[in-house]
Order: sequence, then C-alpha cells, then structure tokens
Amino acid sequence: MNKKTIIWIRNDLRLADNEALNYAYQNHHQVLFLYILDKSFSIGSASKWFLFQALLSFKKNIKQKYGANLIIKAGDPLVILDNLVEKHRASCLTWNRVYEPAAIKRDTKIKAYFKQKGLIVQTFNSSLLFEPTEIKNNSGSYFKVFTPFWKKCLTKIDNIRSPHIIPTSLNLIGIDQKEGISLHDLDLLPKNPNWAKNWNDLYTVNEHYAKELIEKFMINKMENYKEARDFPANNNTSLISPYLHFGLISPRQIYFKSKMYPVSNSSIHFLNEIGWREFSYSLLYYFPNLPEKNFKANFDYFPWRNDDEDLKKWQRGMTGFPLIDAGMRQLWQTGWMHNRVRMVVASFLIKNLLIDWRIGQAWFWDCLVDADLAANSASWQWVAGSGADAAPYFRIFNPIRQSEKFDAKGEYIRRWIPEIANLSDKEIHFPIKRDKYPKAMIDLNFSRNRALSLFLKRDKIV
Ligand code: FAD
Repeated sequence: MNKKTIIWIRNDLRLADNEALNYAYQNHHQVLFLYILDKSFSIGSASKWFLFQALLSFKKNIKQKYGANLIIKAGDPLVILDNLVEKHRASCLTWNRVYEPAAIKRDTKIKAYFKQKGLIVQTFNSSLLFEPTEIKNNSGSYFKVFTPFWKKCLTKIDNIRSPHIIPTSLNLIGIDQKEGISLHDLDLLPKNPNWAKNWNDLYTVNEHYAKELIEKFMINKMENYKEARDFPANNNTSLISPYLHFGLISPRQIYFKSKMYPVSNSSIHFLNEIGWREFSYSLLYYFPNLPEKNFKANFDYFPWRNDDEDLKKWQRGMTGFPLIDAGMRQLWQTGWMHNRVRMVVASFLIKNLLIDWRIGQAWFWDCLVDADLAANSASWQWVAGSGADAAPYFRIFNPIRQSEKFDAKGEYIRRWIPEIANLSDKEIHFPIKRDKYPKAMIDLNFSRNRALSLFLKRDKIV
C-alpha cells in the first residue's frame, strides 16, 4: 500500500523544484498538504500581506493541478502534526528545511519526536544553493568574508542538480473539505485601516509570475545589471526578493535559468548577489544571534543616541533629505525599497542619527514584503560596520552626493516626494526653499564628524 505522507508546506510555496513534494511524488506516496501558521514566530505586517497572497495562489494551484486541498492551521506545529498523523494514520512526514535559528530548534525537536514514534521523517534543502554546513573553509570553520565564501561555493556549483519539474499527478489522502481553518482566519491581512488596498496592483503573487519575472529580467535587464543596478529610478534589478523569501521560486531555478544566457560581468554580478543571500544564511546559521547581537563585539559598547522623535522623522520620510525620504516613503507605500537606497537610509539612521541598527532592522522587518531574517540582519550589520565582512565604519554615505550620483535627474525623488517634484534637477537633491517640505533634520558635517569620533573611540574600547 502507498505510504501516507503529510507534506508540511512552509516557505516553499511552489510546485516546481519542491524537494519535499518531489520526494512524495517519486515514491508514489498518498499525500496531504498542510500549512501551519506558528504564531510564536514574528512576521512583519507587509510580509503577512505577501504571505496571504502566496498561500492563496498555492492553494489554487494544488486544487487545479491535483484536486488537492491545503489544510490550514494555526498553533503549535508539534501538536497539530501529531493530531493529523493520528487522524490520517500517516506514516511519513516531509518538509523543506528553513534556517531561522528558532525554526531549526523547533524542527529538530519535531523530527526527533516523530522518528521516535516510528514515522519516516524526510527533510530537504530547497531554499538555498548550499546548506550552511556544506561550505566551510580549510580549517573546517565557517567563512566570515564573502569573497572566499562565494569562491568556495563556485567550486561546487556545477554539482548542483537541476530543478525538479512539477509533478504531473499525485495520490491524495482523502480529507474532509472542512478540515482546518480558512486562509482569512489566519488574520494576515491589514484591517482598519487596510493600508494595502492598492497592493494587488503592485504585486502579482504566484509561482508562474515569479518564473516569468526572472525570465524577463534575464532577457531584458541582466546584460546591464552591473552598471544599472544602483539607479533606483528604473527597475533594473530582478525584484525577485519576496518570491525567493517565500519560496515561490528557488535559487536553483534562478541559477539554472541564468546558465541559459551568455556569461558576462553582469550575469556574474547578479549571481554574486544570490551569493550574498547564501552568505547571510551561513552567517545566521553559525552566529544565530545575528539579529540581536553585534557580530563584532567591540560595537557592544557603542553609545547609541536613540531618539524617538528623530526615529519617527526617518520612518515617515520627513528627514528633509530627499533621497532618504523618497526611500522611506517607497518602503511605507509599497513594502519594498531599492538596494542602493536601503544602504543610504540605513547609514543615515545608524551614523548620522546614531540610532541603533536593531531599531532600523525592526522597522524594515515590519515594512518589507521581502523581510528575511538572514538578509535583513546581515545587511543592517553590514551597514553599521558591526557585521562580518562589513562596510568600514568610516563609510558614511552622504545622502545628497548619493542622490546626485544615482538619481541625477531626481526621477526617483519626484516619484515619491510630490511636494518637491517641480524643482530643478539641480535643486531637487537638497531644496533651498522648503515651504511644503521639512527642513533638514540634522547637519551632515556635524553628524558625520560626531559619528566618526564615536566610532573611533569604540575601536579603542576593545
Ligand atoms: P537583485 O539585485 O535582483 O538581487 C537578486 C537577489 O539577490 C535578491 O532578490 C536577494 O535575494 C539577493 N540579494 C541581493 N542583495 C543582497 C544582499 N545585500 N544581501 C542578501 N541578499 C541579497 N534583502 C532581502 O531579501 N530581505 C531583507 O530583509 C533585506 N534587508 C535589507 C536591509 C538593508 C539595510 C540592506 C542594505 C539590504 C537588505 N536586503 C534584503 C538586500 C537587498 O537590498 C535586497 O535583496 C534587494 O534590494 C532585493 O531586490 P531585488 O530582488 O531586485 O535584488
């Protein structure tokens, strides 16, 4: 008789190149799809919106393709799985691994529990090119610098197997249509106010679209990616980040797709960025406190000047520095911000305002549709200078110079700050007249020097 298998769906909301699903399919198991919202894990508000859409499309896809229902539950995964295993007499559990430290702990416990009960528990890597344990330096330790890390990855990249195709058919475990709760019961969508009213116009959230997005990027944009990626006015990057985070597409699919195009400096650069994602996961795996603790301990004594009023101005895009405000408004209104601008706004918060990087990280976590524990914490620590292979502390972006360089015509600024849209290309980077737009909240030279002297003192602390 076919084994009865529960496929525990997590951040792998796709049918193609889904290891756990492929395992059940190849072995002719009878399957049941389960999604559990584990409320002990924090999900930011914008990510919740994206997750809702991703679940909705996954649910539709399995219905259309296999006639299957997605059982949705909220609560403690061990208890929920235990009940379902008993109820359906399942003998096998399978899932794709996730790498947030608390999830690793939880899943290790669950795996041991069910194995001990005699179930087969099969778990897979389906969200990284390489698992953190696969990439070590010559002394068997993890890499703390990106370039040798990625070099090592590249020596193994030809061994990555090609992506699995979508299973053509599945045997299903019969379930009661009413088993579980409805997607709406997960309470993922914003209410009172519904600030995401127009987000369905901004994002098409399904697996097919994610594939199309990456294909179109590779056809139209990858060739110029290296030169064009830093200019926020045009969408010159792939925009794939939330799809990758929630697993509507896998990095393996992206890598194999990229192999179909000529190798160029730009395509190498693009893969490097996928490499930074891998590196962030490796750092988080080996330094699980990355979201809370400075990777470099000498930052522990840094005298942050946390100021709620200043923080609010930054969050609301009211700092008086147009590039910063454009970025913060883009984030607030769309749940996404261009990478160059992410770096500039983070540097401004940490270095000019001396606000702790963890406070900025938390704001991004709540506002980003692509909020990702590994990439977010590694990137914030990178900008602060407290991270592994981080930008040096003395690199303090000047938001006016950055604006002149990367948004010379002010197109990006005009899009997000309509009150100064009619200023000249020259004046838009730092308006002189400010009737409708706030005064600069801080003097750049003063705050730069203040940061440098504090960072220098911090260096002497250890
Ligand atoms: P592309 O340029 O097309 O890159 C392709 C993919 O590579 C991205 O989708 C992403 O998965 C990965 N990638 C690119 N840059 C980085 C990077 N520096 N670190 C790790 N992975 C990277 N990215 C997130 O996915 N989630 C976050 O929560 C996040 N927080 C950030 C916070 C700060 C302060 C900064 C400076 C960067 C952060 N990033 C984060 C990295 C980067 O800004 C986004 O991945 C990128 O802007 C997403 O757009 P894209 O998909 O068009 O990127």
